[in-house]
Amino acid sequence: MNAPVDVAIVGAGPSGTVLGAALARAGIEVLILEAARAWHWRAGGVFTSPAAVAALDRAGLPRATVETLTRPIPAMRLETPGGAAVRLTYGADRGGPPAVGFDRSRLDPALEDLAREAGVTVRRGVRVDAVELDPSATATLHLGDEHLRARIVVGADGTASVVARAAGVQRPARLPPRIGLSWHVADPRARDPALPRPLGDARLVVVNDGYVGLAPVPGDRLNIGIVLGPSWRDELARTGAAATSRRVLRLVPHAADDDVAWADAEPCDRISGASPLGGRVTRRAGPGWFLVGDAAGFLDPFTGEGLHRALVSTELAAPAIKAALTRPTGRRSPAAEAGGAYERAMRRRFASKDAVSWLVQTFLARPGTFEYVARRLADRPDVRATMGLVMGDLVPASRALDPRFIAALLAP
Ligand SMILES: Cc1cc2nc3c(=O)[nH]c(=O)nc-3n(C[C@H](O)[C@H](O)[C@H](O)COP(=O)(O)OP(=O)(O)OC[C@H]3O[C@@H](n4cnc5c(N)ncnc54)[C@H](O)[C@@H]3O)c2cc1C
Repeated sequence: MNAPVDVAIVGAGPSGTVLGAALARAGIEVLILEAARAWHWRAGGVFTSPAAVAALDRAGLPRATVETLTRPIPAMRLETPGGAAVRLTYGADRGGPPAVGFDRSRLDPALEDLAREAGVTVRRGVRVDAVELDPSATATLHLGDEHLRARIVVGADGTASVVARAAGVQRPARLPPRIGLSWHVADPRARDPALPRPLGDARLVVVNDGYVGLAPVPGDRLNIGIVLGPSWRDELARTGAAATSRRVLRLVPHAADDDVAWADAEPCDRISGASPLGGRVTRRAGPGWFLVGDAAGFLDPFTGEGLHRALVSTELAAPAIKAALTRPTGRRSPAAEAGGAYERAMRRRFASKDAVSWLVQTFLARPGTFEYVARRLADRPDVRATMGLVMGDLVPASRALDPRFIAALLAP
């Protein structure tokens, strides 16, 4: 077997490539292994608050490039079955930058270029079938008949991470099993000048046991993301993803600025599914292994988890991985200490946001309560503004856990 590579990253999604670039810039040898031969659409996120754009700045993606692959979105409109509409602007109405819809067919390759330019070797079309972790030596990655050794192996391979599985830390999300479906459609308003121009808001429409996200992206397209709870499972199995999606989309009410029958819009790619949606891990690092992005835990896109969190996890993991690669001195074990430091940094950064996400999911599971809360958010501009900033990871999430905030939100 060949000499071990310093760091092998499984997965060339945003978290794998951004982490790879950061490590390679620090002079570390990085190999990324990606199962797909070429980029193709997979159910995933396109809508983010401006926090993800700021994280891409920090990752070194030039702002001019980011602008070519995003569409500014003035607000996300949360709509309930009872008719409440909560417009979350993520600070854009107070002079901040807007939320965006990403073109993932350009974002992911741009980040891969960033990694290659930093000196990362990216091997595509290689699925890592299994990983053997050895706390006292190097990890072994099995890619078909090939075996490869790495001093550190990083799982950036999503919620079904092969690295998390090898570490024995994977657990189901603590939510009823949900299914995500996502694809893009052409926006007919772009081609027909007779149709009213859209305002450009994204919509998050809550339906029975699920929700639908509609987000404009570059190229006059709209990304449709549907998340369905267990009560949809039988229908989905019986009628398939296309028929179920059409039925769900017919539940989306027409709006003054959005009167397109999206159920009948021309698809730009095939419907891609994610099931189960989300997952959690009991630990995010250990001797010789780290998890970043969705592999480090992903609850649900409703509360803005996803791309931003994936990017921040790489910022917190990079210094820990660098420290883990330093030689042990005396009784110190940099590898073990670095894993602990990353774990603590992730907890510090996301513990409050996770608590808010749980609170929102608890409301969402009780339609009456959710309706009540949404109506109060719709009527209370300051509370709504804070909630938007918290959901968008733009202020510490602890603000939404402050008893004064909760009282202002829930007061009749
Ligand atoms: C339906 C749905 C809607 C979402 N909506 C949003 C949203 O609106 N906003 C948002 O911010 N986030 C959203 N997300 C989440 C967002 O897509 C993820 O957080 C983001 O893509 C995480 O990036 P990542 O690099 O960690 O993982 P991924 O983007 O999942 O990349 C993982 C990569 O690993 C590769 N891989 C997997 N296994 C192996 C293997 N064994 N060997 C080699 N390669 C492997 C895959 O091919 C893939 O390229 C959504 C997710 C879903 C499922």
